[in-house]
Amino acid sequence: MKIVKVLLLTVLFGCLAPATDKKDDEELLRHYRALIQIDTSSPPGNESNAANYLKKVLEAEGIPVKLFAADGVPNRANLVARLKGNGKKRPLLLMAHTDVVPVQREKWPVDPFGAVMKDGYVWGRGSKDDKDKLASNLMVILRAKRSGVVLDRDLIFLAEAGEEADPTGIGITFMVAKHFDEIDAEFALTEGGGVTLSAAGKPTIVTFGTTEKLPRRVKLIATGVAGHGSVPRLDNALVHLSGAIAKVGAWETPIRLNDTTRTYFERLATMSAPAEAARYNALLQSSAPESLRQYLAANEPSRLSMVTTSVVPTMMKAGVGPNVIPSEAEVTLDIRALPDEDMPKFFDAMKRLINDPAVRIEPITGNLRPPGPPSRLDSEMYKVLEKVSRQMYPGAVVLPTMSTGSSDMAQTRAKGIQSYGIGPASTEADNLNYGAHGDVERLLESSLYGLADFTWRAVSEIAFAR
Ligand SMILES: [Zn+2]
Repeated sequence: MKIVKVLLLTVLFGCLAPATDKKDDEELLRHYRALIQIDTSSPPGNESNAANYLKKVLEAEGIPVKLFAADGVPNRANLVARLKGNGKKRPLLLMAHTDVVPVQREKWPVDPFGAVMKDGYVWGRGSKDDKDKLASNLMVILRAKRSGVVLDRDLIFLAEAGEEADPTGIGITFMVAKHFDEIDAEFALTEGGGVTLSAAGKPTIVTFGTTEKLPRRVKLIATGVAGHGSVPRLDNALVHLSGAIAKVGAWETPIRLNDTTRTYFERLATMSAPAEAARYNALLQSSAPESLRQYLAANEPSRLSMVTTSVVPTMMKAGVGPNVIPSEAEVTLDIRALPDEDMPKFFDAMKRLINDPAVRIEPITGNLRPPGPPSRLDSEMYKVLEKVSRQMYPGAVVLPTMSTGSSDMAQTRAKGIQSYGIGPASTEADNLNYGAHGDVERLLESSLYGLADFTWRAVSEIAFAR
């Protein structure tokens, strides 16, 4: 019976993995809603509550599970489960984080942890970031186990804590440092891509995250002499700091492309209206005109950020009273570096630009995202992702993408795992108004099933024995 089933599955998967069925979708939705209903806002995270839910589900299926929590934070456990393959190929890591960003309850029309279903959407914090991938990966592991299919490579399921804010390194940093043998893989799939739907609901663009910028925040600190507010001083720290902020805020850091962004803009040009296409093609030339930069800064800031190391002032601190000249003033700069940026050189250039001995640059240290090479666009995994996109979203343009944000793929790429970001389908408007980290977050219910179907097909192509 089992052999017949395996043979049948092998034949089926040889051409096309079967789409997920209704029963799987119902189970997926149940797990997804249950995971959203577990409040893992970080801080404090309490991701162990989600990990324990997953543990129960996986163990009930006969899939062994290990929990790993860093010292002193038993409430923030990471979970690993492994389906063994025949060892022909190196493992595939399916990862998704269990923590979510905080909510401002008054902004929500529904309970942010209710997983309320309304208007075709599932509403809740984490519905797009990242409990959709978490539930979808869970369902893929469960289905693979139930099917009894022979795997050419181990499938590793990782649910990691502390992705959103992890100053002390209790999530992926901890797993890579202390338990890398548990998650070492040839390829990883996780958040960081998606499908763009037109307003009419037609898939137009499929993005796969292949690299990302690196957060390299600093403080600018100006120092002077404190004094009475009635007596102006030339060394007023606030005045010096303001001058520095104005300079770095207007700084036009060099435009530079890599494999991912070059391919991204080349393909984007092929599907854009003539004026847009001309702009993207101009960006691909080594000397993009100044007017193009200004256009992008005003109209497409996220695309300008994809080709520059960006410097954005985000927080200021100074002063104790209206009649006191402060002796110190500081600003936080959220710097997002291109993956190949030489940071000491960059800070030297910033220092020359500021050109004020009263202002010093102080890097914010802690658990930093490590630099790593972009994931390849010619790997077996990337080819599978393109193939499945063509099957599921014929006519849509596939774009490899560099995220301007950061993710746990920084750590896996730094360890040599070819890591790719995938994601569900949304309209641009929905992502803007109800996206990850937004005041309100929601996902089209049908997009959840699409994501699980996509992941299942990709996993069957890359991991099932033929
Ligand atoms: Zn996320």
